[in-house]
Amino acid sequence: MFVGHYGPAFAAKAASKSIPLWVVFVAVQLVDVWWAVFVLLGIEKVRIVPGITATNPLDLYYMPYTHSLVGAVLWSTAAGFIYYLVRRVDGSLAALIVGAAVFSHWVLDLLVHRPDLPLYDDTFKVGLGLWNYPVPAFLLELAVLFGGMYLYLKATEPVSRAGRYGMVIFGIAMAAVQWIAFFGPPPVSDKAAAITALVFYGVFAGVVHWLEKQRIPRASRPLNA
Ligand SMILES: [Zn+2]
Repeated sequence: MFVGHYGPAFAAKAASKSIPLWVVFVAVQLVDVWWAVFVLLGIEKVRIVPGITATNPLDLYYMPYTHSLVGAVLWSTAAGFIYYLVRRVDGSLAALIVGAAVFSHWVLDLLVHRPDLPLYDDTFKVGLGLWNYPVPAFLLELAVLFGGMYLYLKATEPVSRAGRYGMVIFGIAMAAVQWIAFFGPPPVSDKAAAITALVFYGVFAGVVHWLEKQRIPRASRPLNA
């Protein structure tokens, strides 16, 4: 999954207003950020095999450290713990939500990947393979993304014109990137796929960091107002 991962990020922000949105934007892709780094370092392996699924040409044949279930649990625990240490004022619930946001990556990947997600190490690989069904796969990405964004928009209110329209425009731009990822040309190499992923994750987190300043938590209004 790609842009759908941001649905849980928006939902996390709606649930815990103290967590910066850009932090959960990184959290939900943390497993992929390390995947890209590990691919660039040659620690994890991917090859480009056009047609291996109907929408995604990546043969992710070795990624025990980032995309195993055990790995995902460890990354989630570490992220929640580090968040707790760095922003103790936000409380332990916020740290738990950040950890859950990291773990949501594996759950959503499970729906779309072919069986290339190991339960531990490089064995017992699982994946429900929705990537082989282009239209449902695309609609799921959008449904999760905009479902989460809806919760966030409901929990906040704009303080500028950019705050009123920016998030939805950003969502549409993300949907367009998803479309190109599914139906555009395959990456030229494994390293190119990793670098492209890192660039997009960085840009998305940067854009949302600016956009989140254009909205504030919705004021709870008195009943009779
Ligand atoms: Zn992933």
